[in-house]
Amino acid sequence: MSSIEQVNLLQGANSYFGLSQGNCLPLTALPFGLTHWSPQTAEGPWLFDGRARKLQGVRATHQPSPWIGDYGHFVVMAQVGTLRPGNEERASAYRPEQSVFRPDGFAADLIRYDTRLEMTPTERCAVFRFRFPTTDAARVILDPCAGESWVRVEPERNRVVGYTRGKTGGAPDNFACYFVAVFSHPIAGFVTFDGSKKQQAEAEWSGTRAGAAVTFATESDRPVEMQIATSFISIAQAERSLAREVGDDGFEAIRARAQQVWEQALGRITVEGGTETQQRVFASCLYRTLLFPRKWYEYDAEGDPIHFSPYDGQVHAGVLYADNGFWDTYRTVYPLLALLMPEQLSEILEGWTQACREGGWFPQWASPGYRACMVGTHVDAVIADAVVRGVRGFDVERAYEGMRKHALEVGDDAGNYGRIGITDYLKLGYVAARYHESVARSLDYAYDDFCIAQVAEALGKPEDRALFLERARNYAHLYDPAVGFMRARNLDGSWADFREFQWGSPYVEGGPWQSTWAVPHDPAGLIALFGGREAFVAKLERMLTQPPHFDVGVYGFEIHEMTEMACAGFGQYAHSNQPVHHALYLFTAAGRPDRTQYWVHRVLTELYTPDVFPGDEDNGEMSAWYVLSALGIFPLCPGHPSWTLGAPLFNRARIQLPQGKALVIEAERTGANPIYAQRISLNGAEHAALWVDHATLAEGGVLRVTVTDTPTCAPSYPDEALPFSLSTHLLP
Ligand code: CA
Repeated sequence: MSSIEQVNLLQGANSYFGLSQGNCLPLTALPFGLTHWSPQTAEGPWLFDGRARKLQGVRATHQPSPWIGDYGHFVVMAQVGTLRPGNEERASAYRPEQSVFRPDGFAADLIRYDTRLEMTPTERCAVFRFRFPTTDAARVILDPCAGESWVRVEPERNRVVGYTRGKTGGAPDNFACYFVAVFSHPIAGFVTFDGSKKQQAEAEWSGTRAGAAVTFATESDRPVEMQIATSFISIAQAERSLAREVGDDGFEAIRARAQQVWEQALGRITVEGGTETQQRVFASCLYRTLLFPRKWYEYDAEGDPIHFSPYDGQVHAGVLYADNGFWDTYRTVYPLLALLMPEQLSEILEGWTQACREGGWFPQWASPGYRACMVGTHVDAVIADAVVRGVRGFDVERAYEGMRKHALEVGDDAGNYGRIGITDYLKLGYVAARYHESVARSLDYAYDDFCIAQVAEALGKPEDRALFLERARNYAHLYDPAVGFMRARNLDGSWADFREFQWGSPYVEGGPWQSTWAVPHDPAGLIALFGGREAFVAKLERMLTQPPHFDVGVYGFEIHEMTEMACAGFGQYAHSNQPVHHALYLFTAAGRPDRTQYWVHRVLTELYTPDVFPGDEDNGEMSAWYVLSALGIFPLCPGHPSWTLGAPLFNRARIQLPQGKALVIEAERTGANPIYAQRISLNGAEHAALWVDHATLAEGGVLRVTVTDTPTCAPSYPDEALPFSLSTHLLP
């Protein structure tokens, strides 16, 4: 079973600038919640260090990744005695191993203050409970972390209101995160302050990092409760959310509700068999897939969704989502959502479409609005994958308009939206080496064009379909048989410089070995470029077994992904980052499912533990890779409605599907080291193929796989049994 108790919130949390074991925060939040809450032990993007023993407070956070940064963030902390509002000066000793880190709540003893701090979340609010000693100097501090802010203490209403405009980017000047904090005890005294410096007895204060500290007279048997709401719209809207999500309910009732929400969400997939460790990894990963993207909308007085737009600075009707890098997440998170919770996915896609309406273009990396980060326009894959898997309930026509626009028109030179180098791409079929990261961009554009063609087909646009399918072949322009890799080309068609182990431009966060496989939409074509299946399989095998040489290239220093690849022991297969995340499944497309199953099993059991990820987790992507690979189903090509089948890690998995359906995946194991799938049956009938279409799987039933210690002989699979093979490949 995967239960809330098996989730390790600290998986991935022990990371720092030079080495990522996930770069995750131990987030307490409801699934896709508007505000997440994380214990804070340090300032800056790496705000939680599992080794630290001093707690600075609990941060209301919206940070999707330390590389992107936080916004609308502030810290809640309890204190007793003399007021010391600064992060480090107020920090208290705490013992992580005796603290509660759960999706539905965080709790710790602040030993310095003899106070227990507990909190539990709703989607937009939280309830805190502070067990102070008996004292007249019990205090709660509300400290905006950065940026222009404003705070007002209202003792007559037992509350503090305020906002912070702290942000890293991606929002207009009028952006703010508002908060309303209401206390169970009368406010006996207060101070407002500016960072940790100026302090004053005025009830209102504005400036940089304007915060407030309120004091209570407490008895040890009467804990102070604080209900706190966040809003990107207004103080009044925060009040509305507080009434809607918390109301008169106390801490225990809210905590019970949060637990129920998570039990229901995590209960959508239960697993049996495998080791206790594997079950804990699975539960922890499943939790990570349900945090992002973030619901960026709130509810008006009539109960209808509204939101502040980080794209145009106005308040609009409808839903919006934020905090997603499509370059990472399209690969696994979205296909998983399409199977598990298509209605949730449909709302998310309406949110992305709304972003396109408000800003005129789809975001490249939304946090909360436009951010220039990574390459491609993989929102195309996100939308196409949902469309081909039958997800509707969003404005597909409007989404298509946005996809078509960035595939045909010049976007933003800085890369916040659109496709850098598109004029080259339209003219030459590739982005010339004069543009940064030209190989990565070209390959991604070709795949994204394939995805756009799928949506054109669904919408009955045959001319567009033909145009974009033709462009989907563009990847082949960059394959140089002389070096055996994808290689940059100049404007005149000549090959640019090539170095086999050099990372970075013309690739991105990788080099030729990690970037050459980016043709998920035409494995058959890719295999043909390498001279056939045997040569292709040999190349993949070499990636996994040769030394992890790398040249730091244009980065100029050893970036963390290089270190992670070098230390992982999987050769040039850098599972620490996304570009290779489909590569092991290409073995199956080339007729060697045994090699997929061998390597996937090793990655599942060697690179993931309940404590660490092999690199940046990235908003559920690395987790969803684990969840799907452990189930034995994988979306080799998002944008195509199929699942590649493998060897399940667990003996039995039950996936709760919509409309009361369920998919049961059973693995019958024989032999000493059973990791190879031998026979597959679906609802009792033999299933000869190594893939299955989405609609069939989404109907539910029983998928049974016999797993043995004998690799299946490759030629036993006819061509049509292979996903995207020579007889089923996707380009006409
Ligand atoms: Ca990454």
